[in-house]
Amino acid sequence: MQYTTNLLSNIKDILISELSGFYNQNESVQLINSLIHYFTGLSRVQQALKKDYRLSESEILKLHFAVKRLKKFEPLEYITNECEFHDLTLTVTKDVLIPRPETEELVDIIAKEMEVNETILDIGTGSGAIALALKNKFPLSSVTAVDISDSAIQIAKKNAKKYNLNIDFICEDILASRTILENKKFDKIISNPPYVTISEKEQMKPNVIDWEPEKALFVPNNNPLIFYQHILDFAEIHLSKNGKVYFEINENKGNQIHELMHCYGYHKITILKDFRGKYRFAIGKK
Ligand code: GLN
Repeated sequence: MQYTTNLLSNIKDILISELSGFYNQNESVQLINSLIHYFTGLSRVQQALKKDYRLSESEILKLHFAVKRLKKFEPLEYITNECEFHDLTLTVTKDVLIPRPETEELVDIIAKEMEVNETILDIGTGSGAIALALKNKFPLSSVTAVDISDSAIQIAKKNAKKYNLNIDFICEDILASRTILENKKFDKIISNPPYVTISEKEQMKPNVIDWEPEKALFVPNNNPLIFYQHILDFAEIHLSKNGKVYFEINENKGNQIHELMHCYGYHKITILKDFRGKYRFAIGKK
């Protein structure tokens, strides 16, 4: 690596041009702004104003290696190990899916319907995003979060500790277990389970397929609703009388999920679109 300058504005231009061919210009600028912010603490505005700011050797080195990782399409969030979700800055690693803006919308939908002290279950919690955001907004609620991956649970616990949020974390496979949570009832059962079919994988970008945990994303082509079915089975026992289920769903499976929920005796079913206009959420009440 040879940089003949340590001026922020020059280094910035060099790094942005290094990303050309890998990302479009807009994406490159945003990625480099974010990296500089992460490594120097300078906001985007400060970066623009302090044109004569000089980077230290170690800052340049860190930026250089981060750009190398971006060229392999590693998501920025795995490089910084941070992801913003609602009012929280969550730790994320390759063990968990990077929380998506759609999932923030799911939290908003649920939050609008929350009473102050409900019992909530988040199935497939990953980084803990949904569970943590709701507990943060509703401190009197009682929140349980389940994930099959022990490493994901460790990350979620770390995030809970950071914000001092008391959540009951359980490492369990929802497809296998019939014993978890015994007779406990929940007012809201929530899940953003894996829902991308293997055949849809081909259309996905390398930053997702090469880096994010497969287990959190994909379902077999011949059984795409497997998680919803198991969660609805589970809800038969664990959903309280006036409780509701809230799902994030595959945009192409709205009708099938509606039908499945109907079979389970849900009569008030709503399928909602996300901010991109895609069918993304299913809500059901018996
Ligand atoms: N929305 C995610 C994606 O498109 C998938 C999340 C999931 O499978 N639950 O990458």
